[in-house]
Amino acid sequence: MSAPIRPCPTCRGEAELHSVASASGREDPLAVTLRALPVQQCRQGHVHFTSVDFPLTVLEHLVKEDEKQLPAAEKKGFIFKKFQCAQCDRELLPEPDHRHSFEVEMTLPDVKAFIVELSMPVYKCAQCGKEQLHSLDEIRDHTPGALARAFEAAGVAREA
Ligand SMILES: [Zn+2]
Ligand SMILES: [Zn+2]
Repeated sequence: MSAPIRPCPTCRGEAELHSVASASGREDPLAVTLRALPVQQCRQGHVHFTSVDFPLTVLEHLVKEDEKQLPAAEKKGFIFKKFQCAQCDRELLPEPDHRHSFEVEMTLPDVKAFIVELSMPVYKCAQCGKEQLHSLDEIRDHTPGALARAFEAAGVAREA
């Protein structure tokens, strides 16, 4: 069940639940697309998160829970980094051969579930065919920036 909707933080007017069909943000190499993002909107059209904590909760969930499920290579070497297939140990190509999107269903308390799509360069193992990232840390580093831009694209007003 949904929590009661708070008054609009901008004008204190009554607000209703809405969802933003699609909004994307990018901080290379990562692109984040939000689908059916739950927000609240007042009669004057101010769009806000349904709670002040919402953006941080989404970020933490992505970084701590969801991204660790992504297939990632094993990094070897300190100066000359090499990446080995997580499945068969074969060395991976130095350049990604395409981008791939991974879909996460974000289920948080008090709001409708929505989809977060993470798109990033992937490397296909020549031996076993497994598609994977070089580095999970790299994706994690760019998650806050890409997510913030996606929220901005969704038209959500900032709150102090
Ligand atoms: Zn308002
Ligand atoms: Zn492999």
